[in-house]
Amino acid sequence: MSDYKINTKCVQGGYTPGNGEPRQIPIIQSTTFKYATSEDMGKLFDLEASGYFYTRLQNPTNDHVAVKVAELEGGTAAMLTSSGQAANFYSVFNIATCGDHVVASSTIYGGTYNLFAVTMKKMGVDFTFVDPDCTEQELNAAFRENTKAVFGETIANPALTVLDIEKFARAAHAHGVPLIVDTTFATPVLCRPIEWGADIVTHSTTKYMDGHGAAVGGCIVDSGKFDWTAHAEKFPGLCTPDESYHGITYTEKFGLAGAFITKATAQLMRDFGSIQSPQNAFLLNLGLESLHVRMPRHCENGLAVARFLKAHPKVAWVTYPGLEGDKYYALAQKYLPDGACGVVSFGVKGGRKAAEAFMKELKLAAIETHVADARTCCLHPASATHRQMNDDELAAAGITPDLVRMSCGLEDADDLIADIAQALEKA
Ligand SMILES: *Cc1c(COP(=O)(O)O)cnc(C)c1O
Repeated sequence: MSDYKINTKCVQGGYTPGNGEPRQIPIIQSTTFKYATSEDMGKLFDLEASGYFYTRLQNPTNDHVAVKVAELEGGTAAMLTSSGQAANFYSVFNIATCGDHVVASSTIYGGTYNLFAVTMKKMGVDFTFVDPDCTEQELNAAFRENTKAVFGETIANPALTVLDIEKFARAAHAHGVPLIVDTTFATPVLCRPIEWGADIVTHSTTKYMDGHGAAVGGCIVDSGKFDWTAHAEKFPGLCTPDESYHGITYTEKFGLAGAFITKATAQLMRDFGSIQSPQNAFLLNLGLESLHVRMPRHCENGLAVARFLKAHPKVAWVTYPGLEGDKYYALAQKYLPDGACGVVSFGVKGGRKAAEAFMKELKLAAIETHVADARTCCLHPASATHRQMNDDELAAAGITPDLVRMSCGLEDADDLIADIAQALEKA
């Protein structure tokens, strides 16, 4: 598939049926797989042979869809996870464990911030959060001896900061560690971070990739480009024998193209078990088949709504990286030339109360803890996803108490704007 354009990969990537085989990816709804001898099975357990033995680790339906996402992102290997949270956790914990340190952008998604700053901190992994707009010098100063990775989001949810991927990749590589980019809001249709120097990308496939609010899921893609062996002392998990697999060394046995994802599957998926169900992988693939058709409409509607809001007297401010004059317009032009997704953040004049009153009046846009759906939805992060943060943490995450996050769906832009106009009128 690698020679085809992204539109073709969306439709046909990951699965090529043979003669007389199903046209659509089969849902292998089976926990387990049958073998003739214990010896056959033993080879699978030792990673001596590739194949399926238990769906907690791998399932053929998932693998077809993971291959499609790898093709879309330009990576060498990928795995599906039960959620975006699981994908981000695995992507970091696969290389940073107790006693290690990670540099992360401060504007990342609230759930990821909590995972890093609270839960993974309890596991002994330390994080330093940096302003994504910091200078190269400030970024470099955040690294320590024990830093193992750098983490950011292409378009941050919901702050809508655009990551200068090249700047972050340069700093990561200068310190011998990979850059991990959560690229949920961009999708590979709008930006492929690996082309800009990212080493590993993650997704909450729950969002645009599914696109219909049907299935929670996640994905990790490895570029296969980061040379773990050149910094072997930093990455013993990949470069020294794994005693739980009879002493195999992932980089030796699976090469740079396969080491990261094989380790994440063999160790983390085995032990934590956050696998995506084959049924959800099937639904995800249906979403991927139209991703390249849906994303331009999400972007168009996002831009139309952002322009309307910007000109409205009851709106205090608008953030949309695709909007002329936005703080991130230049970075968006560089990294997201085909559009900046359908999510718009703005403040209603009158603060928190006015934001809540406005949202109550909306008819088409539903109040939901969700984004990137075919149907327009909106959220007040300060009282929902980010409510565990104090005001300082909110500010560092780029969120003000009046912020409304509006995820523009695939409806007619005129209808969306009319709905927003009547709600602003009443608020
Ligand atoms: C939603 C989201 C997540 C978490 O994904 P889930 O599928 O809800 O677990 C992670 N990162 C970003 C950018 C998100 O928008």
